[in-house]
Amino acid sequence: MLVPIAFGLFGLIVGSFLNVLILRWGKRALTGRSTCESCERTIPWYDLVPVLSWVALRGRCRFCGAWISIQYILVETVVALVFALIGIAPVSLYLRVLALPVAALLIAIAVYDLRHTLIPDLWVYVAGGLALVISLVSAAAGGFGESVLLVLSAGPATALPLFAMWFVSRGVWMGLGDVKLALTMGWLLGLEGGLAALFLAFILGAIVSAPLLFFSSSLWKRISARYHFLHTVFNVKAGKGYTMKSEIPFGQFLILATFIIWFTNMYGITPLTTFF
Ligand SMILES: [Zn+2]
Repeated sequence: MLVPIAFGLFGLIVGSFLNVLILRWGKRALTGRSTCESCERTIPWYDLVPVLSWVALRGRCRFCGAWISIQYILVETVVALVFALIGIAPVSLYLRVLALPVAALLIAIAVYDLRHTLIPDLWVYVAGGLALVISLVSAAAGGFGESVLLVLSAGPATALPLFAMWFVSRGVWMGLGDVKLALTMGWLLGLEGGLAALFLAFILGAIVSAPLLFFSSSLWKRISARYHFLHTVFNVKAGKGYTMKSEIPFGQFLILATFIIWFTNMYGITPLTTFF
């Protein structure tokens, strides 16, 4: 019981740091005290305790009462849970320790992509490098039963379908950041797992996008114009929302799918990979 708690508490601290990283990246230095986004007063240390401070302040700034984004507590909680899950995974300790920075970076990338529709190069490259190290360490532990070449090629091979989509559509269907992310996925999950995660990401993306697209379609406009009560039921304003052209960040789906395949493999639950 001590191991998941220790990993989880460490995750809270890392999550707290990730929030700072996500908020300040490309804007201001990572060092320096945190200030309220609204009144710009320096936040005292006792208001920076992960999760607890946010709950104690009921999500508002102590000085000006401005709302503090729920993102803070969400990121901290998710990182803590993910770290705890890694902590109790039935794999060797050094693999678990190596998995922590990769998981943290993937979560940071997902949140940053959600906010800015952009994936910072440095984050995805560091995650990719670490993922490759994990693969090589695992291959070495197995006496290099899988050839090194196979491990190395898993990244580019997984990225290839997305690269083709990026190339053919000149960046409309797919961002180059997603291609780089797929490279990391291949190195982390192996070729089979990487491709399974890609497939799963497209399914997850479709499940989320389909209702968004439907509610902004002309069909929905006609239906809701005729049946006014539908508005109150679904509370979705017709014509205001997503279209095929609006950019729904795909990185979050790639990352969610990666975590699902990664963790099921880590825990030795294989049906998901064999299913695809
Ligand atoms: Zn304030």
